[in-house]
Amino acid sequence: MGNINARGYIRIHINLFHNTIRFGSQEDALLLGDSLLMFIYSSLKPLQSRMHYSIEEFYSVHPFFRYCDPIWKSSFVQSLSDGSKDKSFPSVEHLIRLQEKYKSLLQSLYESSTGIDTKRIQSVLASEGWLRTQLSYSMLSLDFEDKEQFWADYFVSSFEECLFIELVEIIRRRVVIKPCRNCGKLFIPKKSNSDYCQRTYTPDGRTCAEVGYSRTFAQSVKNDELLLAYTRAYKAHYARVTKPRKKARNMTREEFQDWYREAKEKLDKARAGLIDPEEYKEWLKL
Ligand SMILES: [Zn+2]
Repeated sequence: MGNINARGYIRIHINLFHNTIRFGSQEDALLLGDSLLMFIYSSLKPLQSRMHYSIEEFYSVHPFFRYCDPIWKSSFVQSLSDGSKDKSFPSVEHLIRLQEKYKSLLQSLYESSTGIDTKRIQSVLASEGWLRTQLSYSMLSLDFEDKEQFWADYFVSSFEECLFIELVEIIRRRVVIKPCRNCGKLFIPKKSNSDYCQRTYTPDGRTCAEVGYSRTFAQSVKNDELLLAYTRAYKAHYARVTKPRKKARNMTREEFQDWYREAKEKLDKARAGLIDPEEYKEWLKL
């Protein structure tokens, strides 16, 4: 790094008792980990090979770009538009590489676990040699703005350090991160039993949570319908054994046992979506 001003200084405030974080002069704190997730899923690729850039295009990449030093912001955008004459500023390619590293790291840390698995986290971290980067952040003070909020105030000298500090904090504070059951992206559940994230998923603006829970509800209603159809058919078939009728074909006890076994198996399959529920209902009527 030749140009010292190219690094991008920023202060980060991390709440002592709550899992929240603020960048620079940011008023509203974010959940710890949310800006890291915002970064790994941000769309950087469309920003490659452009003629002109504006800093606002990076606001959706990470809060750092909104709240860092204004002089750095303009020099950064200038260096991108110049075709990176000054190699000490990060290029879009550099940001994409960082994004890929953090994305794959967070995925291996959190994607397949339902809770915090310290052993797994340790073994993933141990296999990642790049985590030893040149860091020079320092803790400036403990900032007691008011009696409610206690912040640890860090002085950080580059975007990369922002990412690193947040990563270390989510690990040491055991922040729960899990994959959304609808879109598969990692998210921080507000309630420990939430399975879906709050990202917009459909073109008309419905979130994964809205899509996911209405689907679960529809599924359970469907399962109730299947159970009802099965119960009805069970009674009807059993009656053919115990109270022989003229209209319906009578059944022996053995025939009924075979039917019962098959009906039960098919019910499980239909509930799991392995066979068509409508076909199952038709079969029950035979
Ligand atoms: Zn989702």
